[in-house]
Amino acid sequence: MSKPKVVVLGAGYAGLVTVRQLTKKLSPEEAEIVLINKHNYHYESTWLHEVAAGTINPNQARFMISDVVNPNRVRLIYDTVQEIKKDENRVVLENSEVTYDYLVVALGFVTNTFGIKGMDEHAFFIQDIDSARLIAEHIEYQFAKYSAGEITDDDALNIVVGGGGFTGIEFVGELADIVPKLCKKYDIPRNKVRIINVEAAPSILPMFDKDLVSYAIQSLESRGVEFRMGAAISECTPEGFIVGEDKELIKGGTIVWTGGVTGNPVLGKSGFELVRGKVNVDADLRVPGEENIFVLGDCSWVMNKETGRPYPPTGQLATQEGVVAAENIKALIRNEPLKDFVFDDKGTVASLGFSDGIGNIFQGKKLQGKAAAAMKKVVDDRTLYLVGGPKAVLKKGKVRPF
Ligand code: FAD
Ligand code: NAD
Repeated sequence: MSKPKVVVLGAGYAGLVTVRQLTKKLSPEEAEIVLINKHNYHYESTWLHEVAAGTINPNQARFMISDVVNPNRVRLIYDTVQEIKKDENRVVLENSEVTYDYLVVALGFVTNTFGIKGMDEHAFFIQDIDSARLIAEHIEYQFAKYSAGEITDDDALNIVVGGGGFTGIEFVGELADIVPKLCKKYDIPRNKVRIINVEAAPSILPMFDKDLVSYAIQSLESRGVEFRMGAAISECTPEGFIVGEDKELIKGGTIVWTGGVTGNPVLGKSGFELVRGKVNVDADLRVPGEENIFVLGDCSWVMNKETGRPYPPTGQLATQEGVVAAENIKALIRNEPLKDFVFDDKGTVASLGFSDGIGNIFQGKKLQGKAAAAMKKVVDDRTLYLVGGPKAVLKKGKVRPF
């Protein structure tokens, strides 16, 4: 009898952890493992705001998949998933097709524009390595053009960021670090460049308490970030964001939208039942009614039984789901009972640039300033370790022992 074929879609946090765990838990005789990803590299989605600001090199935030997954043990296919034909146990790729016995869908997030007019056409998104790199290149090009006299309007130097959630705030934190350096490089006075964060809600970062939020606002304002809170963006034009009832235009030469994310559109195209763009999975991480399909990470909602609400989609959640999905696939193959997923919340930290941040760790301990920034780097390296092992941390890690 041929051995069962496990196909994993996406080599992000959830997908890569699943594959690495499967290779540890199953012998080569027990299952064939296939990993399909758009690129031949994995990128750290949680570092993309740094790539977008230009505070780290894109190559620091990615590594080759074949460096951390043995191609003799796992068949690696670099191709783009178009559709999952659930009824036929088949995945359609851009250039070929693959059949499966067990499927793990871990295709991550895409930026959600909520249908806001002009957003797709005129705003940049922090979505993957290429889209993030484009933002950093664009910002620097604006500075270069201004310096060369090719543009004379000061507004062209403004960087406007829509959304004051984690991504928007971590991004403006990086901008506050890089803008003074770019000003020096291009002989532009710092006061000519505005970094403006635009948030619909009355305040930013709703998941943190008032003290930490006011610390973040004060810290960022002192480094030149302006906030427009309670300003819902209703449209994006080539000149900037339109906000409020009087349709005020907040102008910028670089317009970035960080107003939210949703699950990969492949899910909808493949006929999965969606709730706000993602699949509600059972406690064992399988799709209800689909015995052999797991949906992980930013493509699914997993219910927190204590709160009755789904866990917020994070890298931390995605890596933990990868471990349980691998465990459950092993159980299916060996005809053993499946486990329920239980999230082990290790806390939340948001960076505000290289040496500042805020966070809640160890069930309620608050952190701010340099301690939070240091903790963020430890968390980043821990996640890198989970997907890439010690070599990835040594090559790309952020904590420098000396
Ligand atoms: P991803 O890690 O995004 O991986 C998806 C993979 O699928 C990618 O390799 C992609 O190339 C591939 N793919 C996509 N479409 C296709 C296709 N059609 N065909 C083939 N391959 C495809 N969370 C935290 O816990 N802590 C943080 O500090 C944090 N910081 C963040 C900072 C930013 C700027 C952003 C945007 C998010 C941050 N998050 C953070 C959230 C976290 O990044 C996501 O929750 C996490 O990446 C989800 O993991 P995933 O495995 O579902 O998807
Ligand atoms: P988000 O949904 O968390 O935040 C989006 C923000 O945009 C919200 O504050 C929202 O009020 C605002 N917004 C929405 N529509 C708007 C409009 N029309 N005008 C103005 N503002 C508007 O999205 P995100 O920040 O991209 O985060 C996505 C996910 O990634 C979250 O689950 C988050 O937890 C996770 N993440 C975590 C970290 C971290 O742990 N350090 C960092 C980045 C992202």
